[in-house]
Amino acid sequence: MTLRSRIVEGRDQEELKELEKGAPTIMIDEEAWITSEMIAVGALSPLHGFMTSEDYRSVLEEGRLSDGHPFPVVLSFAPAGKRNAETIKSQIKEGDTVLLINQQKEGVATLEVEEKWRYDKKERAQKIFGTTDEHHPGVRQVYQRMGDVSLAGHLTVYKRPDWGPFEPFRKTPEESREAIRKQKARDVVAFWTGANPVHRGHEHIQRNLMEHYDMLMAVPLVNMAKKEQITPEYRVACYEVLFKNYYPKHKVLLLPQKITYIFAGPREAVLHAIISRNYGATAIAFGRDYAGIGDYFGKYEAHTAFDEYDPGELGIKPVFFREVYYCVRCGHTVTDEVCKHGEEFRIGISGTGIRDLMRYGFLPPKEIVRPEIARLAIQGVVPKGLGPDGMAVGPPGKVIKRLFPFYLVAHRLGGQLRHKPLDWQGLDINNIRRALKEVRENSERILKDIYREVEYEADIDRSLTSKWVQDATVTAAEDQKLAIDLIRARLETAATPEEKAEIKKELDVAQRILKSIGKVITDREAKERVWNLREYGSYR
Ligand SMILES: [Zn+2]
Repeated sequence: MTLRSRIVEGRDQEELKELEKGAPTIMIDEEAWITSEMIAVGALSPLHGFMTSEDYRSVLEEGRLSDGHPFPVVLSFAPAGKRNAETIKSQIKEGDTVLLINQQKEGVATLEVEEKWRYDKKERAQKIFGTTDEHHPGVRQVYQRMGDVSLAGHLTVYKRPDWGPFEPFRKTPEESREAIRKQKARDVVAFWTGANPVHRGHEHIQRNLMEHYDMLMAVPLVNMAKKEQITPEYRVACYEVLFKNYYPKHKVLLLPQKITYIFAGPREAVLHAIISRNYGATAIAFGRDYAGIGDYFGKYEAHTAFDEYDPGELGIKPVFFREVYYCVRCGHTVTDEVCKHGEEFRIGISGTGIRDLMRYGFLPPKEIVRPEIARLAIQGVVPKGLGPDGMAVGPPGKVIKRLFPFYLVAHRLGGQLRHKPLDWQGLDINNIRRALKEVRENSERILKDIYREVEYEADIDRSLTSKWVQDATVTAAEDQKLAIDLIRARLETAATPEEKAEIKKELDVAQRILKSIGKVITDREAKERVWNLREYGSYR
């Protein structure tokens, strides 16, 4: 797919100077400016301007532009505000060139008005969010931030918004494709993240992908709505730390993105796919928690949005992953596709849980967030600490439910199940302390214990075995025999049949305990396990 790029810089700024003298002006907010930039650099290709009523309707109904190209979200330009409304009404007609100015009143882009059209906010809200209730945040955005008249047409951007700390990472689709070409990468997979610091669940998916794809395009969203999250600066820093310390340099491309409320809606995942494709990706991966990325993604699952399109016509392949968690019995991040163990072995990986655990004041377990990353993330969490009610964003029980499910069902990590699972609603911060302490102390212990048992039993060269275990076993057996001898001596002096029966019982139990004392494996016994039918050299 060819890219359309309509960014004009340098000499052509003269044109802008001319326009500033006479053209009607519309003031746009940061979001509209960012959107204009995306259109102009080709991030939303094949879209090259704001939608006409025909395209708008077609996308709303079919998820396609009027020419049939898949396009998941409507993109109308209906500037809000009295002054803008007045300008649109009295000064702008179809065929005009309009100057778009930013909040500082600088001219930043031009729009060649192809159509001036009125649209129905109620219909838009109903179609996209399934409700016209103003309490819904997406619906409120439609009512508050959009005017009644929409302008459609080609865009040319003269000045790009400053991306602040993310300026060094900013790439146009063309530049991104060039970076991919330079690495001779053919198959590139995109992976988007929202409010979360990059964690071991993401890492599990990314490493799986990197086995099969030439390059990972990591896309942290850096202009999330002002809701609880890790701040974008820290999230990007977390990614850099992961890449620097763990991934081969030629395998990764860090590409922060700004996506605005204008795109809100259930088909957001498809939009992310189209943007990724334009930036040069051939596949896009979705984890189970993808719903948390878009502001309004809500309960919609990413994959249902893709069902509307034939495989192939989007030009990028969606790949879906199941929920990742850490299993202490496997000693690994896993999904329920690859691990059969119960909840008593489970440490959950939930971004929401991780953020609240940090608000309660604790560094997350290394099993779910790399310590180098966690130490940055804990600094970047907002809001910080606890509210006046002594709670983080959610109650302590929710943190336990999300991160420490073992605590609800078992007496200890990997241990016996509780008679009745704990009710998470009754738990307080002390339960977080206990659960986290259990993880810190014992998450590695299960595999270690099993290995220790088995190595003691199976090593043939006994030089590395824990001699003290052998010694303790020998001693225990000797001591037990000592006790048995004494009991047996007493049996001979028993006066009554009742007394005799009682001592017999005692002797019986003591002998059974002797049998259950661990087997002592001697050097000789171990060596007897080595045998070959044929001469050794014949195997070489
Ligand atoms: Zn497992």
